[in-house]
Amino acid sequence: MQFFNCDLHIHSCLSPCADITMTPKLISEKLVELGIDLISITDHNTTGNVRVFSEVVSKKGIRVIPGIEVQTLEDVHILGYFPSVDAAESYSKWLYKKIPDFEIDPEKFGYQLYINDEDNYIATEDKWLGQSAEINIDEAIDSIHDFGGFFAFSHVNRKMGIIYQLGFINIVNNDQRIITEVNFKKDLKSLEFYDNLKKIKSSDAHSIQTLKVPMKISMKKRTFEDLRNCLLNDEGKVELIWD
Ligand SMILES: [Zn+2]
Ligand SMILES: [Zn+2]
Repeated sequence: MQFFNCDLHIHSCLSPCADITMTPKLISEKLVELGIDLISITDHNTTGNVRVFSEVVSKKGIRVIPGIEVQTLEDVHILGYFPSVDAAESYSKWLYKKIPDFEIDPEKFGYQLYINDEDNYIATEDKWLGQSAEINIDEAIDSIHDFGGFFAFSHVNRKMGIIYQLGFINIVNNDQRIITEVNFKKDLKSLEFYDNLKKIKSSDAHSIQTLKVPMKISMKKRTFEDLRNCLLNDEGKVELIWD
């Protein structure tokens, strides 16, 4: 077992609220500088830039776990992680149909940019990705599982986090480990009540300068399976790094 520097929550230029400089090449450079070993690109309600990021970032020896950040009808953010880019893209295609046809003025709400491996913008997304998909929390969790993935509750104590929005975590199946993302040490207090949680910490970076090393995870290999086993079956340790 070896500890790897991991960041499981990074937004690309396809997220309306992210900087347009969140491109594969610029992010790769910063990840190398920080010594990060494994990341996930988790854009709002889409995996549209995951494939190009996987290609560019992995050339630097950094592992990319395909991901997404779903916004549910309850305005709760849920991270989904998938075993392959194909699985993540199939999920995104399914989810896209659940996103209302509502277009935005990018000057006001932010640009949603598809990018290529040379950091050139190649297209824009017209449907607003920063709104809720028409699925509830249970449906989001079930659908992520249906496509072979696992989930984590995003920034539980911040806006769009499950505890912030609902006041509690509605754990449906109690013998199932739940992964929760925390931002500050004080968040741990609000989670003391629950005994079957695994805590992770991420940068949730929307700009290059907010990228950092938020946690270390011990795994045999940097694979989707090892990551899932560590987080859900305790086959490894997670070390959160506080600011
Ligand atoms: Zn979020
Ligand atoms: Zn996020």
